[in-house]
Amino acid sequence: MTLDQEKLNWMKGTKKPFLIAGPCSAESEEQLRSSVMPILNKVDYVRAGIWKPRTRPGNFEGVGEKGLVWINTLKKEMPFHFATEVGTPEHVELALKHQVDLVWIGARTTVNPFLVSELAEVLRGTDLPVLIKNPIHPELALWKGAIERFAKNNVRGLGAIHRGFHSYQKSLYRNIPLWQIPLDLKSEFPELPLLCDPSHIGGDRQMISKISQKALNLAYDGLMIETHYAPDQALSDAQQQVSPQQLLKILDHLTYRRPGLTEETFLNQLEIIREQIDQADLELLQALAKRMDLVAHIGEIKKEHNVAIFQISRWKEIFKSRLEMGKEFKLDESFIMEMLRLLHQQSVKKQTEIFDNEPSTHKNG
Ligand code: PEP
Ligand code: MN
Repeated sequence: MTLDQEKLNWMKGTKKPFLIAGPCSAESEEQLRSSVMPILNKVDYVRAGIWKPRTRPGNFEGVGEKGLVWINTLKKEMPFHFATEVGTPEHVELALKHQVDLVWIGARTTVNPFLVSELAEVLRGTDLPVLIKNPIHPELALWKGAIERFAKNNVRGLGAIHRGFHSYQKSLYRNIPLWQIPLDLKSEFPELPLLCDPSHIGGDRQMISKISQKALNLAYDGLMIETHYAPDQALSDAQQQVSPQQLLKILDHLTYRRPGLTEETFLNQLEIIREQIDQADLELLQALAKRMDLVAHIGEIKKEHNVAIFQISRWKEIFKSRLEMGKEFKLDESFIMEMLRLLHQQSVKKQTEIFDNEPSTHKNG
């Protein structure tokens, strides 16, 4: 599907890079005032979660409608545009009732096509900008699907927010960025504004600046950065929020790049691939460590039952089946053979250590 370009012009005339900032959650009128007032002349939209979709029950779930009343009180003191997350048709109705200026669909909602359709239905034909965060897991089709559902309902101000993807693997990030996915989205929908949410990608305020610059290097249109007057006291996402002063400093140091294929774009493409290689290596090492733990475990069992370390039939079977697997993955045969030998050598060494060093508990021995 192609998106109607006319409808994607809602960002025109805004600052570059387009900036949404404010606390993860609205907590009190005073907290909003202190978090937002110092940054108002830098931001296009103030953000604050009114309804918080928490992974586990019992965490702070947002203040609800009264937060929208606080926002309107503050808007009278000093006008600004306000953005919040909506996850149910009821949220949308309340957002419209209180003149919210932009809504976004959270990562936990984008994954659910039923809910996305319901939200698209209540927003049908609206001029209200609607930004769609990537789904929790790395599935481009689901992200595109959500955007298409809104586009089909004639929602005019569409955009996307890249907030990273949950991974079961250990990672430097709270949500791994997998930059290739938003870039694929951008190449399918070139006119769709694409924002980066470095706060939810990094999960750590120290990482905001680096992730933001990377997004700008990749020609993202804007950023959404969680900002709280006292980040450590925040009721949600404390570690990743920056103070208003820190935000201003981060913004001061960012370089906005003009779009276009330059040497720099090329270097950034390399950097994306390198980051994927780093992650692949991390996963490889984790898999090796896990394998060695299993090897040690089986070593203990062999020792307990007084069974020889080297089991020729098992080794032959491993060798044969792994070579076949390697072939399926189009890996060079001699490389796999070499690697299997090394793995086997290391496993025998580990089990020998276990046999030599730990007291035997087997009955006959
Ligand atoms: C948020 O922006 O506060 C939020 C809950 O984000 P996400 O949907 O990306 O987890
Ligand atoms: Mn948050």
